[in-house]
Amino acid sequence: MPTGRLAGAVPLRPPAAALGAPDVALAERLFAGLRAGTGDRGGITRASYGPGEAFAHALVRQEALSLGLEVHTDAASNLYMTLRGRTAEPGLMIGSHLDSVPCGGNFDGAAGVLMGLSVVSGYLRAGVVPPRDITVMAIRAEESAWFNASYIGSRAAFGLLDPSELDAVVRSDDGRSLGEHVRAVGGDPAALRARSASLDPARIGLFIEPHIEQGPFLIARDAPVGIVTGIRGSFRHRRAACIGAYAHSGATPRTLRQDAVSAIAALVVGLNELWRRLEDAGEDLTVTVGQIATDPAEHAFSKVAGRVDFSLDVRSQSDDTLRDVRTSLYRLAADIAAEYRVGFDFGPLTDSRPAVMDAGVVAGLAGTAQALGIAAPLMACGAGHDAAVFANLGIPTGMLFIRNQNGSHNPDEAMDIADFAAAAAILSRFCLSCEGSRP
Ligand SMILES: [Zn+2]
Repeated sequence: MPTGRLAGAVPLRPPAAALGAPDVALAERLFAGLRAGTGDRGGITRASYGPGEAFAHALVRQEALSLGLEVHTDAASNLYMTLRGRTAEPGLMIGSHLDSVPCGGNFDGAAGVLMGLSVVSGYLRAGVVPPRDITVMAIRAEESAWFNASYIGSRAAFGLLDPSELDAVVRSDDGRSLGEHVRAVGGDPAALRARSASLDPARIGLFIEPHIEQGPFLIARDAPVGIVTGIRGSFRHRRAACIGAYAHSGATPRTLRQDAVSAIAALVVGLNELWRRLEDAGEDLTVTVGQIATDPAEHAFSKVAGRVDFSLDVRSQSDDTLRDVRTSLYRLAADIAAEYRVGFDFGPLTDSRPAVMDAGVVAGLAGTAQALGIAAPLMACGAGHDAAVFANLGIPTGMLFIRNQNGSHNPDEAMDIADFAAAAAILSRFCLSCEGSRP
């Protein structure tokens, strides 16, 4: 496992906080430009491989060219903007995506790309040459809302896109295939079909994805920045059912009922007790029954419910925890089935692996935040990000979260530019400290 390769190897230079401070005004200007160019019903829309994303890529590219960065795109039309350092490899990468969900917020994704540009612009203005090349990557098509597939751009960059996806995956709004969309923006679907890669994990020293937080953790902790320790993996039963028997509410004694509502209530309570116990033991976990329904064609206020359909979403940073919760879930369900005389059919199972952030990068970012006097608690990340693709390829990876109100994937997401500046200050100073080379 790639741990501890970079951070802490070289002491941080005391004056670095002021020297080459991030160009936050650049980010403010580009955020305003993005909002003006991609505004939609109070929010913004930047469809994956659509006009909004194209606008964002053109805006960012123009800025990079005027900064004098080396700019190129790959077969998927991901955009790379490089500032040369004292040594080329292994280079540092800062990146995130520029697409959005329909009528989303202006900061989800874009904050990571603009922070990368703010950092390198800060170095350029102060004449600071970073120890290693720094490439800011604007990633295509991260949001699954458009193609019902995640991480298209980052997977394509590593040659990990399944060739069948180029034909089989179509965009939800226009029905055109991913391959057609890639070609339309000047990409090279044939190269993607041949799984040609533009990035080589062995040549990337580290990847950092700055991103707005999409939950309330940092607001509750009163901290501007969070340092992510891992992206949670999951297991899910999207179409589970508890099956009992419909019966007359007044005529059926408790001991003869097969009440699916009472059984599912016991399951939810039992899962929450399990969650509390594991959390008290220091384990990372979320358990959510987000959908629960009796059948309107069959149910009635005077009937014992014979069936409840429900969903279950369990997430953790730990594979072991996910495995233990699955075992406990099925055991709990078997006990409840016996007690309530019902059956559980959990239906299909889908799962994803947790992505662990590099321990050395986490420690380095945390140490830098502390040196700068910025509150930056460690935290888990509950949603998927491109960083997971990099981390699962063994690239030392980190994520910086920026405090954000009102969640994300909606027009009301609200990031304070001062919080963005705090995260950028950490990132800027951390990149200057990364002198050690990857063994
Ligand atoms: Zn995002």
